[in-house]
Parts: sequence; C-alpha cells; structure tokens
Amino acid sequence: MTTVLSKVQANHCRAELIERRDVSQNLAILRFRVAERLSFTAGQYATISIAVDGDLVERPYSIVSSPHEPFIEFFIELVPGGNITPKLWELKLGSTILVRRRIVGQFTLDKGVTHHLMLATVTGVAPFVSILRTQQIDLERGATSNHRFVVIHGASQSADFGPYRSELEELSRAGWLTYIPTVSRPWAEPSWEGETGRIEDIMRKHTDQLGFDHSNSVAYACGHPQMVANVKEILARARFRKDQIKEEKYFSLDDIDPPEL
Ligand SMILES: Cc1cc2nc3c(=O)[nH]c(=O)nc-3n(C[C@H](O)[C@H](O)[C@H](O)COP(=O)(O)OP(=O)(O)OC[C@H]3O[C@@H](n4cnc5c(N)ncnc54)[C@H](O)[C@@H]3O)c2cc1C
Repeated sequence: MTTVLSKVQANHCRAELIERRDVSQNLAILRFRVAERLSFTAGQYATISIAVDGDLVERPYSIVSSPHEPFIEFFIELVPGGNITPKLWELKLGSTILVRRRIVGQFTLDKGVTHHLMLATVTGVAPFVSILRTQQIDLERGATSNHRFVVIHGASQSADFGPYRSELEELSRAGWLTYIPTVSRPWAEPSWEGETGRIEDIMRKHTDQLGFDHSNSVAYACGHPQMVANVKEILARARFRKDQIKEEKYFSLDDIDPPEL
C-alpha cells in the first residue's frame, strides 16, 4: 500500500479544477491548476489518473492549452459507461485529480516543413489549439515564422466545435491559419452556412485550392479512428509518404459497435 502511494506521489501531481465549460451534454472543457509547472511540447498529451473502486485508472488526454499558459486545459467527450469520463463529469470547482508529471507524445509540429494540414474530429482539435495558441504567443513575443496552417474541424453539428471555432476564426484573421469547420448532418441545422460533409469529403478540394500538397506539407489527423483511416488513404493517393502523415487515434475501431442493419 505504502509502495503504491509513494509511487503515485513520485509520478503524479495534483491538479485542481478551476474552470468548467459545458459545450453540450457530452462535451466539456476542463481547466486545471497544477501544483507544479509541467513541462511539455504543444501537441502532447497528459495522463489523468482517477481512483475508481479503490484502483487508480489512467487515460491519456491531449492538452489544449499552450505550454506558455499557467493552467492545463482539456476538451473531453463523455463516454457513457466509461471508466473515467463519468467521474470527470462529477468534478466540481475545487475538486482535485492526479496528473502524471511526465507529459508525452509524438503528435507535435514537424518544423521541417512550412505547411501543416490539421484534421480533427470534435475533441481531436485539442492538440492543434495548443500548437496554434503557442504559435500566436510566440509571434506576439516577437518570433518570426513562415509556417502556414489549415485546420479542418469536423463534427455532426456546429455546437460541438465549442468556443474553439471562434478562437480559431479569430486567429485566422492574421493570415497564417485557415480554419474550416464542417458539419456532417446539415439537414438538422438549416441555418448552417459553412462547409458540409465529413472531413474526408472536403479535404482534397481545400488542400488543392490552398496549395497544400505532398511537396510542402505534413498532415496531422486526430480523433475518430475511422476519420484517421480514411484520410490516410486519401493522402496516400495524393502522394503523401507515410512519414508525412502523423496520427493520434483516440480509441480503436474495434471498440465501435457495428451499425445496425
Ligand atoms: C493519445 C490520446 C489522446 C486522447 N485525448 C483525448 C481528448 O483530448 N479528449 C477526449 O475526450 N478523449 C481523448 N482520448 C480518449 C481518452 O483517453 C479515453 O479513452 C476516453 O475519454 C474514454 O475514457 P473512459 O475511461 O471514460 O472510457 P473507457 O472505459 O476507456 O472506454 C469504454 C469503451 O468506449 C470506447 N471509447 C473510448 N472513447 C470513445 C469515444 N470517444 N467514442 C466511442 N467510444 C469510445 C473504449 O474504447 C471502450 O471500448 C485520447 C486517447 C488517446 C490515446
């Protein structure tokens, strides 16, 4: 018991919930103040630990905030019946959780190219917001950059983009970012005037128009495993090599129930 506890103390630090924004019934943005400054690179994920029936259960979550910000922010989807997310939904302001001190992940900016094509389903926008907030803060601090970004953000309805839609639209005014939100169920939202269809349906049209191709770009796909699989095939046909496509799948295709016939 003592060994488990001392291991937890050595590897984890406490994080206090300081802000919660419910985007919808099953999407929430949670901001935590961490007892100590965690060192990470934009795009990486943190491991959250929560006690469930006496055991410590851990799950990875992409960090939305920039390493420059004094809090860590997550954009989380509630998985009904899941181990951790229902517990996260019960947290009140002031509640604490544990976060592993070591922040990890390879889903970071490839600075070897200038063009970055970012593809996200709903919460999969998290690492891209971290990278783009970091880019903005670096520019404000006087850095120069010739990097260009396209974010294609897919959801079934526009409410699921949360406040990240207006944040990325605001950032896109400076010209170095193009943000394209797309809804896959436009019939449920007659007032939506933006793009319609899945990310994979509209990706080629925009990349061709904006001049993002295999000669100058790296693609990053994050979130739903089916989107990741589909865009990888499309990008391969557009001559992107394997090392020009980075992926972060939030769960496995094996976990999805087959559609009802
Ligand atoms: C690198 C990485 C980063 C991640 N970042 C985020 C993030 O920023 N935001 C976020 O919401 N999630 C993220 N996830 C997913 C997260 O780690 C958990 O898997 C998810 O929150 C479910 O946890 P749970 O304990 O509630 O459910 P579990 O008990 O783990 O899962 C119950 C079942 O639901 C399946 N499942 C898990 N997630 C989903 C889903 N979204 N839709 C349908 N079925 C699912 C599981 O595979 C399992 O079969 C990330 C995953 C990885 C690998």
